[in-house]
Amino acid sequence: MRVQIQVRIVSDDETVLSEDVIACFDKGDDQLEEIGLSLDQAKTMLAGAQTSLVAAQAASFLTRHRCCERCGRHLQSKGRCRLLFRTAFGTIPLVSPRLHRCACQPAGSKNFSPLTALFTEHTAPELLYLETRWASLVSYGLTVGLLKDVLPVDASSLSDLTPWGGPDRIKARFDRFSRIFPR
Ligand SMILES: [Zn+2]
Repeated sequence: MRVQIQVRIVSDDETVLSEDVIACFDKGDDQLEEIGLSLDQAKTMLAGAQTSLVAAQAASFLTRHRCCERCGRHLQSKGRCRLLFRTAFGTIPLVSPRLHRCACQPAGSKNFSPLTALFTEHTAPELLYLETRWASLVSYGLTVGLLKDVLPVDASSLSDLTPWGGPDRIKARFDRFSRIFPR
């Protein structure tokens, strides 16, 4: 049989925002190994769902910030740059537009990127939490191996583990995320 997995995201008013086929694979049914999802298939699904969801959320946020918050004027585009958001389910590339600041705004920089107000950090708190939790228990190499075994993370997205600066920093980071994600 052929399995096709689709993610459909709709807005609060039922408008379809995106409809993506995130995974497509063939499955047999005559061997135990074929029953259910394989780890690779599960990781592909997670990565695809995450890409669709983050893209839809970023697009929705941008739609709400295309106009001046004071006077409502549409803001002119000044170009775009690329933004990478590291998550536990893959690193998501995003296009971050730069907009001219409205003339009614107080003097300051002439342009800005609305997405920087949403992506105040380029790593999702949950990925930081997993890195911190596992690296406090086992070595860096084991942590990378473990996370890569079960999640669609790539090695480069885990490079942030290396320059931690010792146990005190690990503990501070762990305390911070223990508050966010209580066990
Ligand atoms: Zn304005």
